[in-house]
Amino acid sequence: MNQGILILHPDNCESHPDVQQVIQLLQRERLIGSSIEGMPYSYFAGEMFLQLITFMGCSPHIRFEPEDEHDKGFCYIRLTASETLQIRVSEHARPPRCCACKKPVGKGWRTAVSQGEQITCPHCHQQQRPDQLSWRNDSGMGRFFIEIHNVFPGEAQPVPHLLLQLQSIDASQWRYFYLHSWQ
Ligand SMILES: [Zn+2]
Repeated sequence: MNQGILILHPDNCESHPDVQQVIQLLQRERLIGSSIEGMPYSYFAGEMFLQLITFMGCSPHIRFEPEDEHDKGFCYIRLTASETLQIRVSEHARPPRCCACKKPVGKGWRTAVSQGEQITCPHCHQQQRPDQLSWRNDSGMGRFFIEIHNVFPGEAQPVPHLLLQLQSIDASQWRYFYLHSWQ
């Protein structure tokens, strides 16, 4: 049972920063600690995690250690990189917005997006590729993701310092969104 995933990624979908460079940066900033055995590219939270990811509310329900060897319900960080564009969409995600008129693109976008088809805006009829859409905070797409597992959607957010450090790697701005109850 995963409570939710906070995902950080370059705003430019085509950007795929060097994984080792990102790992080094996250280690230097101490967002991540030691790697998790048996889980590729996964790390325990580092000493500065709670300084780099801020939580709303006074007592975040967050656990940094697994209860046993099969437990994946604790907060950890995983990096994923892919050759192809990946789309991450929460189960009840709202439609992304049109790049021209900024209105929601409406029904049928999930299928079109997952098949990489052009989206035609029902309001202004602008045609656009999925990566041109304005994504909301419950979905996104890209080739590289930093996933922070088991945080409640909307409860946590990265501090500007962290996003700026990440931006220094590939000169792309970074954004973040939340995945909840996905498939
Ligand atoms: Zn439009």
